[in-house]
Formats: sequence, structure tokens, C-alpha cells
Amino acid sequence: MNILVINAGSSSLKYQLLNPETQEVLAKGLCERIGIDGKFTYKAPGKQTIDAVDVAMPTHSEAIKAVLDALVDPQNGVISSMKEIDAVGHRVVHGSETFACSVKIDEKVMAALEECIPLAPLHNPANITGIKACEAVMGKDVPQVAVFDTAFHQTMPPVAYTYALPYEYYTEDKVRRYGFHGTSHKYVSQRAAALLGKPAASLKLISCHLGNGSSITAIDGGKSVDTSMGFTPLAGLPMGTRSGDLDAGILEYLMNKHGMDINEMLNVLNKKSGVLGISGVSSDFRDLEAAAKQGNARAQLAIDVFEYNVRKLIGAYAAAMGGVDAIIFTAGVGENSPAMRLRMTAGLEFMGVKVDPEKNDCRGKEIDVSAEGATVRTLVIPTNEELMIALDTAELAK
Ligand code: AMP
Repeated sequence: MNILVINAGSSSLKYQLLNPETQEVLAKGLCERIGIDGKFTYKAPGKQTIDAVDVAMPTHSEAIKAVLDALVDPQNGVISSMKEIDAVGHRVVHGSETFACSVKIDEKVMAALEECIPLAPLHNPANITGIKACEAVMGKDVPQVAVFDTAFHQTMPPVAYTYALPYEYYTEDKVRRYGFHGTSHKYVSQRAAALLGKPAASLKLISCHLGNGSSITAIDGGKSVDTSMGFTPLAGLPMGTRSGDLDAGILEYLMNKHGMDINEMLNVLNKKSGVLGISGVSSDFRDLEAAAKQGNARAQLAIDVFEYNVRKLIGAYAAAMGGVDAIIFTAGVGENSPAMRLRMTAGLEFMGVKVDPEKNDCRGKEIDVSAEGATVRTLVIPTNEELMIALDTAELAK
């Protein structure tokens, strides 16, 4: 079975063709600058890599066509015809309270997706465009599935998702914590259960997805019970360029002081804050570590603030669940920075966390890095959102 996984943005489209049974990735790549000057990349093991500029891609439909042409190309392709694509899985950012799991797309689902647009005005329209483009190019017979970033968190109890605002803002306007990165948290929690050789239903896990965007999720019995991102992905931890949680009173103060309107303020919070804002150096933790080593105090402070907040949330979620069996580190930082993993877990010895520095000295592989005597395991699990999307898609397309 071959599943085409699509992650459509407003001017980009990431794709991967994979076999969910063997987990083999047949080909992957990226269409960028859709509607501008079209850039197309394609990589398949044993085939020639394509890195083309000025590819005519006025809309997402031409981008999908370029992907399919490359996949079926007689020399460089990996399938002989489009018929070998059994289904398409789409990453959709927001499913509101309507979607608590992945769904096969039909007209009713499309209508419900449109209704979710006000909750994710930047992301959902692009996801819908991607779905429509696939249908236009591949026809109605190829099943399409929507896999939501928010769905895994729909199991959160009201106590975790309710904001202390007038209650009508929830009932009338749907303002609540939704959480994001759900596909990643779900995938790594399932892998953690496999790695520990225990059923997910018996485990309390804290999943730390730490990349350019970061979130932490408390997973009790296989279900998300709390997560750090909120109504939008701006909440929770400080991130590469996003502020994370802050006192809402700061907005009024800064907007008045600097004559900013709400859009300018949001631009600061989304694009100029986080570790970039604190350090003034970079949003990339590799640059920050290098700068800190050279004695840059603000780079060091940015790293310290990030690590402190991760540690604090781990403690909070252990308290929220009344215990924890394992802490999972995933995504760019979580998978690749042994030094940050060590520092983020230092000080958690009181709750049974103990990391073995030698085992921890690894990157991008699935491993239990706990030291002897640890009563809470520390796991490194590379995330694989595309595989999770393909698995859900294959299941629903059957
Ligand atoms: P992601 O959003 O999951 O792709 O993660 C991207 C981020 O991971 C980058 O911005 C880096 O800050 C971080 N990252 C990747 N590799 C390393 C590394 N070896 N050490 C520290 N941070 C890393």
C-alpha cells in the first residue's frame, strides 16, 4: 500500500510517498513559492535528486501535478502510475472540537473544515486548498484523509482546557485550549509504550516536542490530558521565535508605549520573540549554544530560560497526573541535543529521573537513556508525523 502524505502551507507543499506497512519512504520533497516563482525538490533513494527553480506553479494544483509527474517519471520515478497511490493523507492544523480523530474526507467533512477556518485563519485555508488540489488532479476515487494537529488533545478534561474567561467565550466563541503537535505526541507516546514493553493504557508519559515550535503534553493511559500550547500555537514554552505564555497585560503596555496595533504586536510575539528575542542572536539552538560558548550572555540566558521552562512543565505535568513513568524527548532539539537533554533533566532526580550521560550521548535514534536506578525512564524518540499520518490514512482508506 502506498500513501501520499501532504502538508500544504499557503505557498508551500511538503510531500512524502510511503508504505505504512514496511514504513519505507519511497520519495519525498517540497514545492515552495507556489504562486510566485515555483521551486520544486524531489528525493528518492537510488534516484536522481531534483532541485528545480522557476517551475510553473501558479496554484497548488500545478504543485500536485509536479509531484505526481515526478513520482511516475519513467526514469526517476518510484511508481509506474498514479493508480499505485492508494490514498492521500493531509495534515490539517485545526479540527476544533468537531474532530477528535482522523477522518475520511467527504463533502460534509469539507464543510466542517471550512467552519474551522476562523480558529486557524493562516493554516486551515492552505490545508483545504491542498485537499481540493489533490481531488482536482487525482479524481474523486482516491480516498483522502484529514489528520489533525489538534485531534489527539481532544481527550483533555475541561479542567485542563478551560480558560478563566467569561464562560460564554467558550460556549459561543469556542475559546479554549486545543493544543497542537498532536500527531507527533501521539506517535512518540505509542513508540514509548513499545520501547518500554508496556501497554499505553498503563503508562503516564510526558512528551516533550522541542523544535523550532515546542510543546509538552501529559499523556495518561494513552490519552492527552494536558498540553502546553493553547487556543493557538503561540502558547506554552518560549520557542524559536514565539514568546510562549506571557502576562496579557504586557500587550496593552507595549502597544501603547510603542504605538503598535494588534497585528504589529502579534508579529513581535510570533516572529521576534522566543529565544531569538532574548538572545538577539538566532532562533536556532545550535547557533545559541555556539554563541554561549563564546561567552554571549544573552544567548546563554535564552537557553537557560527555555530549559527552565521545560523542567518546570515536566514537574507540573507529573503533579497533574499524580506521577510519571517516562519522559520523552523528540523533535530537533529533543532528538539532537544531548547537552540540552542533560540540563533539562538535571534537578529532576528528586522525582526519580536520572540520565546516563554515556547513553544520552546520541542523536536521532530511539533509545532509553536512563541511568541505573532511575524510577522514571528518560526516552529519546525521533518523531515521525508523516508515518503517523500514513498509518491513520491507510486504516481509514481500507
Ligand atoms: P524542528 O522544528 O523539529 O525541525 O527543529 C528545528 C530546531 O532543532 C532547530 O531550529 C534547532 O534549534 C534545533 N536543533 C537541531 N539540531 C540540533 C542540535 N544538534 N543541537 C541543538 N539544537 C538542534
